[in-house]
Amino acid sequence: MSKVRRIALLTSGGDAPGMNAAIRAVVRKGIYHGIQVFGIQKGYEGLIHGEFIEMNLGTVADIIHRGGTMLMTARSEEMKTPEGQKNAAAQLRYRNIDALIIIGGDGSFRGAQTISAQGIPVVGIPATIDNDIAGTDMTIGFDTTINTVVEAVSKIRDTATSHDRTFLVEVMGRNCGNIALQAGVACGAESILVPEMKIDMDEIIMKLERGNQRGKNHSIIIVAEGATSAWELGEELRKRTGFETRVTILGHIQRGGSPSAFDVVLASQMGGKAVEVLLEEKSDQMIAYVNQNIVPKPLEEAYGDLKPFNMELYELANQLAI
Ligand code: ATP
Repeated sequence: MSKVRRIALLTSGGDAPGMNAAIRAVVRKGIYHGIQVFGIQKGYEGLIHGEFIEMNLGTVADIIHRGGTMLMTARSEEMKTPEGQKNAAAQLRYRNIDALIIIGGDGSFRGAQTISAQGIPVVGIPATIDNDIAGTDMTIGFDTTINTVVEAVSKIRDTATSHDRTFLVEVMGRNCGNIALQAGVACGAESILVPEMKIDMDEIIMKLERGNQRGKNHSIIIVAEGATSAWELGEELRKRTGFETRVTILGHIQRGGSPSAFDVVLASQMGGKAVEVLLEEKSDQMIAYVNQNIVPKPLEEAYGDLKPFNMELYELANQLAI
């Protein structure tokens, strides 16, 4: 019989669709195994300040399909200080919590590591819309975000076609072009600009002009926010080609909305596996999705390495947009 009897969980960093499904899975799987489960509100901020609520089957009813996180999330500067980290562990010890589950990104996992260093077992569930966590093929939220972007771009394409316009659509991704790349391929964008790759203006213009010569007068260019300013790029394209350009910044709609079926299933599996791993009295693990399997991996894989950019998909996107 496992010594783990009381666990706590929190969501941290940026919210991602599917976090609620992961919370529900942790709570129900925990209760199924006779464990008491406590939710901590507002991430590490709430942990340091003791914002715990006991979870039961009812507290997680009717949340599986909701975006955001019922536990709320926060970024906590205090958690980055030794004092904050000490207080966080003290709050858990005071309540006799045997282990902590963290649902968030690689920054949140770094915070988790400071708690495990004080003797409290931790397990991380990767949830971030950027899919930028090394060691896992997918993070919770990415699939939903791609679908949201594709839906928005298909609406934009209707107006682009009707008016013969070139649309630049800015998507999230300050340091990482995964959303731009995946959504760009999914909506057949003419060009995809990501922070990982140098921008080749001549090539963008060549593609626009080549399309124009064969009678195609509208185009979609997907720009990751970290690649360049969509406004400046639009202006430069207008000056150099004479084509009418428009800019749409998709912004926070990319985080919201009901999670896709894929994200709900992924979140449910990851939540369930996190509880199993803790029952086996393991610590410092991240629950990863690798080749369609849900497996535990050392937590440090998540922040030790950068996730490699998918060059093969990027090259294919360029080849398909000839
Ligand atoms: P997202 O990918 O959505 O931004 P994230 O988990 O990477 O998610 P961060 O803002 O990097 O988001 O981290 C979330 C929180 O984790 C921080 O506000 C902080 O409280 C904690 N954290 C981050 N890095 C550290 C660290 N080195 N030490 C302790 N705590 C940290």
